[in-house]
Amino acid sequence: MVSPFPHAFSFECTACGKCCNSPPALSLRELFRYRDVFIGAIAISRAPPVRAGQRVRTGPYETLLSDEHASACDALARLHTFSIGAHGDSISVTTQAIDYASSGRCTALADDGLCRLHADGKPDQCIAVPLDPLVPDRLQHVVLAQRSFGEGWLGAQCIEPGERREPALVANGGIVANDAKAAVERRRRALATEREWCGRTIADALRRDFAADPRRALAQVPENGYRTISLVPALLFIGAMSPVLARHCIGYIDAQTALIRRNIARAIERRRLDDRPMTQTLRAFLDALARAREQLASMRTQSNGWPLAKEAETYFLC
Ligand code: SF4
Ligand code: SF4
Repeated sequence: MVSPFPHAFSFECTACGKCCNSPPALSLRELFRYRDVFIGAIAISRAPPVRAGQRVRTGPYETLLSDEHASACDALARLHTFSIGAHGDSISVTTQAIDYASSGRCTALADDGLCRLHADGKPDQCIAVPLDPLVPDRLQHVVLAQRSFGEGWLGAQCIEPGERREPALVANGGIVANDAKAAVERRRRALATEREWCGRTIADALRRDFAADPRRALAQVPENGYRTISLVPALLFIGAMSPVLARHCIGYIDAQTALIRRNIARAIERRRLDDRPMTQTLRAFLDALARAREQLASMRTQSNGWPLAKEAETYFLC
């Protein structure tokens, strides 16, 4: 029997680590901060629009999305999506940590099941867990219902319908818990900022690909999941803003180069066939990073007078 989604959910994390089964989405600023922990990449995915009247069903729950839901989803999508081509195709461009899928866990998950970043501050996406910052507040109860049934979370039992645990995480169409709400808002602000400073340069390149051959360009973005590319286009864009940022990006490249080499060496020791595609991807990243380092080194003593350079330095160097 189908029933409406419960409007309130409670949450209590027991640090079981079940949801830490892959590296999280991080802003570029967070990737800079955790340069020795996470391999950074740009994630490109298709972003079909959410439409009013769309049916959402999870377990025994079902709802129809309203006009208000659709416009709230659309407003959040504008934080990370770009319209590409003449047929209304949209793609999402965000930054992400990546790793070998065979590890089956986030790089920052310690053997005791706890997050190694807890003391220094977890990424905002992780503080917001189990909420999804890319979904409007008024639909977070749907996210929680989906996650309470979702594969990666099954058996975690940290999400419960109703307000049995105090305080509730979501209730009455909004996020109740203050720390989770603040993390969701920080994540959205980071997406909005980095959309202009990093995402747009990637989207412009993709638009050129679409203009040349739309079918081929679209085929390069998977229908499910995401395509990852090196962070190099974003690093070159940021590094060109000022000598300080060029040096910052060079420091990041050096740390990433060492981290990627260590991870490849460990994968070679594991001798798993399914690690090979990621090893190829990471080797391509190493080549791209080395070329970008040379370009940034030649920019290091110049300033292109970018009007927002100081703002970008404050944002990325904090
Ligand atoms: S699955 Fe739930 S209880 Fe386990 S670490 Fe994640 S949020 Fe915490
Ligand atoms: S950074 Fe920490 S909290 Fe986030 S997924 Fe990794 S281990 Fe889990």
